[in-house]
Amino acid sequence: MTIRQVVRRKVTRALTVAVVFLVSLVAIYQFARDAEWAWVSIPLMLGVMAPLLYVVWLVDCPKCHAIFGQRHVFNVAFNLPALRNNRVCPNCGADVDAPCDRRGEPV
Ligand SMILES: [Zn+2]
Repeated sequence: MTIRQVVRRKVTRALTVAVVFLVSLVAIYQFARDAEWAWVSIPLMLGVMAPLLYVVWLVDCPKCHAIFGQRHVFNVAFNLPALRNNRVCPNCGADVDAPCDRRGEPV
C-alpha cells in the first residue's frame, strides 16, 4: 500500500458518505415537502458537510501526520495530471507512490 492509496481510501470513503447524505437530502426535499419533516434536513446537511470538512481539515500524511489541506488533498489522492508536483508529500517530501505500511514507513 502506498501513501496515495491510504489518502485516496480516506477521501473516497468520506466523499461516499457525503454523496449518500446529499442524495438523502434531495429525496427528503423531493418527497417530503411537509413542514413537519423540515427538521430532518438539518442533520442531513451536517452529514454532507462533515465528511467534506474532514477531507479538507483532517486528512493527513500517514508518514508525517501533517494535514494536506484543500490545496493538496485531492492532488495527492487522485494524482490529477493537470497539477504539478503531485508525486511527493508537500510537507515531508515522501514519495506518495512508494510502498509503505499503514503509518507511512517504507517497507
Ligand atoms: Zn508527509
